Amino acid sequence: MNPELTKSEIESRLRQTDPGELEKLWQTADRVRREHVGDAVHLRGLLEISNYCRRWCTYCGLSRHNRSLPRYRMTAEEILDAARQIAAFGYGTVVLQAGEDDGIEAVWLADIIRTIKQTTPLAVTLSLGERSLEELRLWRQAGADRYLLRFETSDPELFRLIHPPLGGQTLSRIDILRQLRSLGYEVGSGVMVGIPGQTYRSLAEDIDLFRQLDLDMIGVGPYIPHPHTPLGEGRIKPSVSPAEQVPNTEEMTYKVMALTRLVCPEANIPSTTALATINRESGRELGLQRGANIVMPNCTPPHYRQLYEIYPGKACINETAQACQSCLAQRIRSIGRTIGTGPGCRHRRTPPCDAQSESAAARSAPNR
Ligand code: SAH
Repeated sequence: MNPELTKSEIESRLRQTDPGELEKLWQTADRVRREHVGDAVHLRGLLEISNYCRRWCTYCGLSRHNRSLPRYRMTAEEILDAARQIAAFGYGTVVLQAGEDDGIEAVWLADIIRTIKQTTPLAVTLSLGERSLEELRLWRQAGADRYLLRFETSDPELFRLIHPPLGGQTLSRIDILRQLRSLGYEVGSGVMVGIPGQTYRSLAEDIDLFRQLDLDMIGVGPYIPHPHTPLGEGRIKPSVSPAEQVPNTEEMTYKVMALTRLVCPEANIPSTTALATINRESGRELGLQRGANIVMPNCTPPHYRQLYEIYPGKACINETAQACQSCLAQRIRSIGRTIGTGPGCRHRRTPPCDAQSESAAARSAPNR
């Protein structure tokens, strides 16, 4: 198996149920992971800086559908304190994630990014939803290194159903990913596995799109229904035959992660919290053994963490950042892997698709 897997081959592997064949897939993904990104597991300290959101996504517990959720936004001081703690833990990256929050003002955040870059060795990753090109440019100029924006599904009809557009919006998430690349960000994206309405064919298209976009980071996790959302309540029911509907299971998530590793061998792939939520015992470890090389310990102060409820029952919700650090370090060592040092950027053996783009120049810029 190699990056040349066709869409039909990807689809047939997604449908594979034979235990022997699946075992081969896990082993191949693990080997490709070792050959291309090595045994180091890079840790990205996740800070969920706000749970305000202007959108009406039908899957996400932060959406405006969820009127019962108390909202918070961390102060600049709280963010900087937490970033310093992340640096003290020896993690190489801080990830600032939030709902699509208009209250996160561009200049305010640019100042925070600049301070983090000036006072810590951290790489800064942003995951703030669909923001304007001007804002994305400003944050890049302030020193942000990476941006995560999952396209969630490559099926445009399903995307509209789960992620209704806001008036006046012109750029698609895929357009924004391309813009991020030309601004010089390392670009991350991904999908949920098993969203109602997701077919095997469209999931194979998603994996093919990861390859076409030449993503630096790819996050995939199981869809977990949230009771205060239209999809979770079953108020919206996309019509797909049961034979075509992708299940939101642990095994299906591993298949997607393993196939993603095969088609994008150099990408940074996290073993996600959603996976750890559906298998608390060993989801993190199995993800790391079936293609993943990244973990994102939650470093949000616990009283806010409870409120960043994108789905219910999230793993690690009550732990302190210290407790997460030692638990994850122990899990990583237990499977014979090491903890990565430094920012853990994508290592390229192949030149970027568009070697002339601004991104190629920015990749060698001194701030990474
Ligand atoms: N506002 C940002 C960050 C959203 S949270 C953005 O839109 O990009 C990060 C990711 O959590 C989302 O991209 C989505 O893939 C995932 N997520 C949201 N709701 C989920 C659910 N119910 N089950 C599983 N994953 C979910």
